[in-house]
Amino acid sequence: MKTRARYLLSLITIACLIIGFTLAYFLTRQPAKTTSTENNTPVSTVVVPEKITLKLPGASPIDARVEDYSLPSSLWVVVNKDYPLSDQQYIPADLTRITTVPTRPDKTSDERSMRQIVLPSLESMFTDAKTAGFDLMIGSGFRSYTTQAMYFNNYVKASGEAAANLYSAKPGQSEHQTGLSLDIALTTKECYLDTCFGTTTAGKWLAEHSIDYGFILRYPSDKTAVTKYQYEPWHFRYVGTDLAKALHDSKLTLDEAYPYLQTTLEELRNQKKI
Ligand SMILES: [Zn+2]
Repeated sequence: MKTRARYLLSLITIACLIIGFTLAYFLTRQPAKTTSTENNTPVSTVVVPEKITLKLPGASPIDARVEDYSLPSSLWVVVNKDYPLSDQQYIPADLTRITTVPTRPDKTSDERSMRQIVLPSLESMFTDAKTAGFDLMIGSGFRSYTTQAMYFNNYVKASGEAAANLYSAKPGQSEHQTGLSLDIALTTKECYLDTCFGTTTAGKWLAEHSIDYGFILRYPSDKTAVTKYQYEPWHFRYVGTDLAKALHDSKLTLDEAYPYLQTTLEELRNQKKI
C-alpha cells in the first residue's frame, strides 16, 4: 500500500508540474506575442490602399467607379464622333422595357427600353417633374446599331450627310446604343425634338434638375463646337449623380472630361483594380 501511495503521489506531482508549466507557458508567451505585433511593427509597413478619384477642374474629386470606362457597359463611357462604341453591335445585358414612365407608343420595343440600372433614377425624375407640373414621356431610349443605321440613312437621304451628321449619329457612334441616353418630350409633343423645348418650363426644369437624378444635358447650346452636335435640350445621358454634379461644377461636357477619365482609368489599371 505504501508503494502504491508513493506511486500515486508521484503521478499527482508530475501532473501538477505539467499543468503548472503549461499555464506558465501560455501566461508568459501569449501577451509577449501580442506586444510584439502591436508595438514592434513599424507604422510605415501598414499598407493603406490609395483611394482613386476622378478630378475635374473646378469640381471636388469624386470616388472613381471601378470599371473600364472604354467598355460600352460603363456608366462613364464616352461615346461620340471621335470615340465610337468599342463593340459596334453592343446590346446592354440589362436592357429593360420601360413600363413605369410613359414612352412614345408608336416606337419599337427597343426604343421604349433602357438599361435597368437607369430606371429608378428615371422614375424619380419623371415623378418629380409631374409634381412640378409637367407630363413627360420618353421619345426614344435605346437604339440598336441597326435602328441607328436606319435613322441615319434616312436623314442622309433627306438632307445630305453633312447636315445629318449634325443632328444624328452614325451607327456605332450613338449614345442611345449604350441604353444610358434618352430623348425626353412633353406628352403634348410641344416643341418635340426642337430647340424650343429648351424654352418650355419643362425643358428649363430638366436642364436645372436633371443632375440631381444623375442625368446630364449632353449637348448644350454653348458647347456645339466641342460636342459636334447641335443644341439638343431634349437629349439626356445618365452618368450617375457624382459625375453629373462634377461635370456641372466643372462646366465640362463628357467629351471634355475624356482626358481626366483616362487619367483615372490609368490609375485603376496601375493599381490593378481592373
Ligand atoms: Zn437623342
